[in-house]
Amino acid sequence: MKAAPPCVLTINGGSSSIRFAVYESGEKLRLGGMIGRIGLKGTNLSVTHAPGARPVPLPHAATNHRKAADFLLEWLNSQPGFSDVKAVGHRVVQGMNHSEPERVTRKLLADLRRLTSYDPDHLPLEIELIESISRKHPKLPQVACFDTAFHRGMPMVAKLLPLPRRYFAKGIERYGFHGISYTFLMEELRRLDPAAAQGRVILAHLGNGASMAAVRRGKSLDTSMGFTSTSGLVMSTRSGDLDPGLVYFLSRTEKMTAKKFQQMVNHDSGLLGVSGTSSDVRDLSASEATDARAGEALDLFCYQARKWIGSFAAVLGGLDTLVFSAGIGENSPLIRQRICQGLGFLGVSINDARNAKNAPVISLHSGRVKVRVIRTNEELMIARSVARVLHLS
Ligand code: AMP
Repeated sequence: MKAAPPCVLTINGGSSSIRFAVYESGEKLRLGGMIGRIGLKGTNLSVTHAPGARPVPLPHAATNHRKAADFLLEWLNSQPGFSDVKAVGHRVVQGMNHSEPERVTRKLLADLRRLTSYDPDHLPLEIELIESISRKHPKLPQVACFDTAFHRGMPMVAKLLPLPRRYFAKGIERYGFHGISYTFLMEELRRLDPAAAQGRVILAHLGNGASMAAVRRGKSLDTSMGFTSTSGLVMSTRSGDLDPGLVYFLSRTEKMTAKKFQQMVNHDSGLLGVSGTSSDVRDLSASEATDARAGEALDLFCYQARKWIGSFAAVLGGLDTLVFSAGIGENSPLIRQRICQGLGFLGVSINDARNAKNAPVISLHSGRVKVRVIRTNEELMIARSVARVLHLS
């Protein structure tokens, strides 16, 4: 009988969800899904058994991450073929100076524990997920894939924040995020057009979290997110860059605490804050004809994105390829068109028919800049990284 192919389990723990996938070697998706709304009413485990298949919801009561992780591991364990899983890969949002995916060891875990104050919203949960798996499957090797790693080689001038120098020594600098997605997008671009991947590229990861990276010869030169993932572009509920003077102003006039400010700029701002109705581009596109604030929110999102493209073209000394990706970048012709409007001076021009179809290349043949839509796949990138680190065949 043919031996079952080795599989990799990928885990992507967010603040209220855990996404997972099982890939066979050869990059075939065997199983995928997520536990959503952890700690809230209606939390469930939804599972898909094939790409594009309808998810099957399984109700459970995950009142916190630990219970959700335990439930997920029990369920996975009970699935036929779970013994084919030979390794686990985790998305770790903040990796500070780690510049490559790494096998989880006691030393790495101790290091991550030391870093939790730099990302208290994600790192403790991610560490807990790694530890839950170690407890249940102590022999299973685990690999940490850092969202910051892609940007670790950025030049000093992109990393420095203009604060008193002593804070740089304490690790306060631009890290940038979405690195797993950017690594995947660059691998795809290399496969599609190796010469373009060596050129001047702007990657636009536009999902609920949104950021851009300026990439030349495959290396990140700059990125819009900074010390935290709140900064840079306008996002679904995050403000992106703001005037730092607001902190003192709001503390005086509204008695706003640092905690409340943090809540506001992460959860109540961006598209949701400006529109006052929704954080979702689909809702806002549907309502902008009758709701001026929905239109203003979308305009602000696109205007800021265009400004970042302009500034990154300056960083790169010109532009050869612009890549749109993630929920908004892959699915919204309207937003892509509105962002690219006015970028003709850079050589960006969109073919409306191809843009409307979310085609892989949406620029005019005559345009100097090739504009692409590439579907990102962070789960697959994690599985690939695990296979590389552990030399799985
Ligand atoms: P992500 O974080 O990558 O899953 O992106 C989620 C966001 O993508 C949603 O909140 C929507 O704003 C946006 N989105 C998803 N599908 C569409 C679509 N068909 N048209 C416009 N926006 C979309």
